[in-house]
Amino acid sequence: MSTVFNGKYWSIQRFISGFSNNAFLITCARSGSSVIIDTPANPFELIQAATNSNVEAILITHGHRDHVEGFYDVSESFTVPTGIGSGDRNSLPASAPVNIDVSTDAIIVIGNISLQAMATPGHTRGSTCYLLESNDSEAAGEEAHVFTGDTLFPGGPGKSSSPEALRQILESLEKHIFPLPESTVVLPGHGEFTTIGDSQKEYAMFSAKPLDPNLYGDVTWG
Ligand SMILES: [Zn+2]
Repeated sequence: MSTVFNGKYWSIQRFISGFSNNAFLITCARSGSSVIIDTPANPFELIQAATNSNVEAILITHGHRDHVEGFYDVSESFTVPTGIGSGDRNSLPASAPVNIDVSTDAIIVIGNISLQAMATPGHTRGSTCYLLESNDSEAAGEEAHVFTGDTLFPGGPGKSSSPEALRQILESLEKHIFPLPESTVVLPGHGEFTTIGDSQKEYAMFSAKPLDPNLYGDVTWG
């Protein structure tokens, strides 16, 4: 477990388990309310840390097995509303309390913080990114964070299974992710973090060249 951010309005802890997956616990500094992002296998450190807060929701970035393998364990400890993109709904058990709207522009309020959902299909049909913001109007200009799952990594988009899927992921990024402020920190579902500013620069070089119509898979911007 590592604390990756500890600010005036929220803290973020990162837990690595499963297939080098990142799970995150975001805790509202004022209320102690928290939200879990993704539930990889063996989430026991995450569960233990989350017990010290008041978990109000579980949000899933997408339904690939490595991101939901620990869902049973987490939901056994915290029976709370869950959100996952409707296109990926079937990757959670039918009995899971999936009742949070995560369609684009839906706002999930956790204490004094909010997560704005953005539907970003491409890596999977139901891939969803979550932008973390404070409810407090004084917080404008505070460091912002976006949880991108397998939609955006440092150096490239997440894996695509066809040329159509790559075009879809690029459209999702152009519509919802690249317009965010440059200083926004990008926290993906695996590995290390980047910023929107760095991703915009990498993408500008990629998009300046014609897109190979047969390109898909593990695409990099370089
Ligand atoms: Zn994935």
